[in-house]
Amino acid sequence: MNPKIEKLIKQFAKLPRVGARGGQRIVLALLQDKTGRAAALATVLSDAATSIAPCPRCGVLTDRDSDACEFCRDSSRANGQLCVVRDLADVWTLEKASVFHGRYHIIGGVLSGAAGTMPDDLNIASLPARIADEKITEIIFALPNTVEGKTTQHYVMSIVQDSSDVAFSELASGVPLGGDLDYIDDGTLTLAFGGRKTL
Ligand SMILES: [Zn+2]
Repeated sequence: MNPKIEKLIKQFAKLPRVGARGGQRIVLALLQDKTGRAAALATVLSDAATSIAPCPRCGVLTDRDSDACEFCRDSSRANGQLCVVRDLADVWTLEKASVFHGRYHIIGGVLSGAAGTMPDDLNIASLPARIADEKITEIIFALPNTVEGKTTQHYVMSIVQDSSDVAFSELASGVPLGGDLDYIDDGTLTLAFGGRKTL
């Protein structure tokens, strides 16, 4: 195989849910396309890679040169509620279901001894200052319903509790054990959000 093609397949194969065979299919489709799709993809990818960065406040991907994302700029979302999620996909899931109208805080993972994810690897230390700055009154946890997710939730509570009297809640039952938010239908998510439990 041509080394350039091989290199390309390897890059695609590393992407989530693609794998070696998927990588081959994508590369073939791109390189054999006669409408210039490969070049167009290269341009938009390069543009996004250089101009997109996490929002310095909440972690949502946004324009690198802006100091806040669409959610943090939107004053109607300053309702005192802050939803703590693992990653941006969870924000998209919650937005699609229109269940939450406050602000988000993406921590970027969950604590895991097995995976070697420690508190310093996550976006947690900035939370107490954010709670004070934005007058947050309720933190809603929408982390994965796993042992790691619960451990992370307790850790976040321990960090935040000392510096503020914010209330905590978590999504009600309906979120399947071990399940990610993106596998839940909008109706179940709305119920889980509406019936959230105070911690
Ligand atoms: Zn933001």
